[in-house]
Amino acid sequence: KERLGQGTLKTVIIPHISADGDAAGSCSALSEVLQQVGIEWHILTCDFIPEYLRFLKNISSAISFQEKPEECKRLLADADLIFMLDHNTVAREGDLENWVVASPAGRVIIDHHPDPDPQQYVISDTQVSSTCELLYIVMSQIWGKEIVTPDIAGALYTGINTDTGGLSHNSSHPQTYRIIADLLEAGLDKAYIHERIYQMNNLSRLRLIGNVLLNKLEVNEQYPVAIMPITREELDRYNYKDGDLEGLVNIPLSVHNVCVSVQITERRERVKLSFRSKGNVPVNEWAKAFFNGGGHLNAAGGQMDLPLAEVVRKVKETIPWFFKQRYLNIHILLKTFIVMPFFKFHFVEASRMAGVSRRMADRLQETIGCPREHIVFELIHSSVVEDVTIKSGNDWPYVEVDYFERPPEVQHEVAKVIYECLMAAGYQNSDVYFRYLTPENYYENGACLK
Ligand code: 5GP
Ligand code: MN
Repeated sequence: KERLGQGTLKTVIIPHISADGDAAGSCSALSEVLQQVGIEWHILTCDFIPEYLRFLKNISSAISFQEKPEECKRLLADADLIFMLDHNTVAREGDLENWVVASPAGRVIIDHHPDPDPQQYVISDTQVSSTCELLYIVMSQIWGKEIVTPDIAGALYTGINTDTGGLSHNSSHPQTYRIIADLLEAGLDKAYIHERIYQMNNLSRLRLIGNVLLNKLEVNEQYPVAIMPITREELDRYNYKDGDLEGLVNIPLSVHNVCVSVQITERRERVKLSFRSKGNVPVNEWAKAFFNGGGHLNAAGGQMDLPLAEVVRKVKETIPWFFKQRYLNIHILLKTFIVMPFFKFHFVEASRMAGVSRRMADRLQETIGCPREHIVFELIHSSVVEDVTIKSGNDWPYVEVDYFERPPEVQHEVAKVIYECLMAAGYQNSDVYFRYLTPENYYENGACLK
């Protein structure tokens, strides 16, 4: 804040390679705020910002390293401060990377991806929906909400809207909506932004997407994974321009039994991969392990210096690894939410159980991640015969858990929750045993889950 108070600062703003709505929106909003407070700024990109985002204020003045490398190098060498927006590492800055690293300027990351590189200033929060959301918080803290003009509001809303898939994913925090309310008050023209980002298609983009969905989309026979390889020749045939494939990778997820979608595009330089998933399927781990990439749980990317066909083969080959590694049994993925875990308690008194059951259910729900109403505790009533005396039970509960296999860390935690809650109910000792359900042995209403 103090540094930004010095009017003579020279700043450079950089989005990530293949800028999307969040990267371009945050660059636009920040540059416009700096403009208002009289700080010099330049937006530099290693490639080109797609046509459909050029309506954003100041974005058309972005300088591309591909067009003007010397100017980019000079601006970086002269800068006092470099803002890295919507990315967590200089490696996402393409050919600018070397010149950014060589620059004496301080660097500021404003981002929402995990594991940001250490920099002079890191403002990073993986809980926010988008960099634009975080940037709004930062700028309103530094300059006050009044700094937000209708153009800035539109730019921030572009990032929030596109990074959340139109406010569907990563948008479960009330704060996101409060910020949108602030933006509306600041003069946001929501209809205009929607029109610019979703209704400016050209016919060739529509036909390119149509062709991919009709002729290229493959759904794996064993795993709920859709793959779409796209060749250079196809891009040329449909007159591809940057941004034309935006959003395509999400479409296969609309099929009910597809959980992961992978788009593999033969770009001029190298093959680019985009991963999307629904539910608790960490595609960023897959991208990181095999495709020089990373990203978020449900949206990740990577790249490979191999021919398209080999990348496609590698994706197919590593599908079983990915599912096995993460215990992502397809049946579990698709059915876990339907099949509840069963908890059977032996030698536990109902009155003592009642005192801790709500807390136990809350904690188990959090650990297992199934719907709250699926957690039910069953108390097994039994009589114990010891020698010739009949007793009501003992003071050492035994708990059986029947569920679909979860990763060991989840299982350990379930056992711990049960132990601690029984302890709170007055049982010093208890045992827990887990049994795994298998889809081939499980029948729901007479139908086998497999
Ligand atoms: P997209 O598929 O839209 O290009 O990327 C989706 C997300 O994946 C991005 O927001 C970014 O977080 C991440 N991502 C894409 N490509 C790469 C990459 O090459 N490396 C890393 N670390 N993350 C990527
Ligand atoms: Mn983002």
